Amino acid sequence: MKILVMNCGSSSLKYQLIDMENESVIAKGICEMIGQDTSSIKHDPITKDVYKAEVPMPDHKKAVSLVIEALLDENHGVLKSMDEIGAVGHRVLHGGKFYSASIVINEDVKRVIRECFDLGPLHNPANLIGIEACESLMPNTPQVAVFDTAFHQTMPKKAYMYAIPYEYYEKYAIRKYGFHGTSHSYVSKRVIDFGKLDPDNSKVIVCHLGNGASLSAVQNGKCVDTSMGLTPLEGLIMGTRSGDVDAAVVQYLANKENLTVDQVLNILNKKSGVEALSGVSSDFRKLDAAAKEGNERAKDAVDSFVYRVVKYIGSYVAAMNGVDAICFTAGIGENDGKVRKMICDSLTYLGVEIDEAKNQVRGEEILISTPASKVKVMIIPTNEELAIARETLALI
Ligand code: AMP
Repeated sequence: MKILVMNCGSSSLKYQLIDMENESVIAKGICEMIGQDTSSIKHDPITKDVYKAEVPMPDHKKAVSLVIEALLDENHGVLKSMDEIGAVGHRVLHGGKFYSASIVINEDVKRVIRECFDLGPLHNPANLIGIEACESLMPNTPQVAVFDTAFHQTMPKKAYMYAIPYEYYEKYAIRKYGFHGTSHSYVSKRVIDFGKLDPDNSKVIVCHLGNGASLSAVQNGKCVDTSMGLTPLEGLIMGTRSGDVDAAVVQYLANKENLTVDQVLNILNKKSGVEALSGVSSDFRKLDAAAKEGNERAKDAVDSFVYRVVKYIGSYVAAMNGVDAICFTAGIGENDGKVRKMICDSLTYLGVEIDEAKNQVRGEEILISTPASKVKVMIIPTNEELAIARETLALI
């Protein structure tokens, strides 16, 4: 069966068509700058030439129809008919407290996605438009929602409650939800398999370090804590997100710079992180190059990033009263051996010891700790699209 995976972001749509017989990607692509002046599609049919075009896309509905056209196109298409698509798996940002697992989409599911617009104002509306566009183009094809928040729904109350007036939790469901759930779920399961851990007696910390970054503490296969919160802003220092700051910064900055709360939040989400600390880039390859040329701020930015990760790992070891395995994934986690080493060098108190040669490996599942290490340390490449496709297949 072929499964189409749709990931509608605030102004983008990423997609993959996956053949579930052998879990191979048949085609993938991205529509960018949706709703802006210069929207474009890049469609990669894997075994044929990549197709690129600038096409007006006022909304995600138009983007979805362009994706379907590209998949069916005579020259760069990979399908003869839409009937070949067995199901569509949609990444949905926020399922609130309602969904702790993926679900086949019906009117009720769409109502909940709509109810969560306030919690995911940039993504949930785009997700719903993507779902409805697919429904109208493929009325007989099952659609599945895979929520970014679902995996974290097993967190205990003590981990997800914010210590603010209780009525705001009751009235508005303000609490920690966590994100990157599909990745944390997929990777933590691989850690147990690959690391030969006992699924019912295991303590795992997953470090998803990409442009967006989050950690999760996973005990016996269930998430018990994670670093992102009500929104993806909380927690680690990221590419352009600040991560944890004193909430009073919002008021202080709004007053000093005469900004609205929305404007300050925009700064904390899009103009902060290692990009702001370094003044160079959000990309760790550029930060490394700048640091090598003697740029102190670039070096300091990476130091701060690593320090925050190390502190979160320490807090999750405390939360679980131990740790069996620590795993790195996503763009930085999979590729940046220097950052991995900096983090692991601060974990010698746990008995962590890594093999320098193995730590140079990129993009494959590998145990990078030495046999003497008291904690297994590994790299597990994440694959959110495949995880979404697997969940979709399992449900239909
Ligand atoms: P992601 O959000 O998971 O796609 O990760 C993207 C980020 O990974 C980029 O912004 C870079 O900071 C980082 N990254 C990707 N490739 C490398 C690499 N070879 N070395 C260091 N960092 C990398």
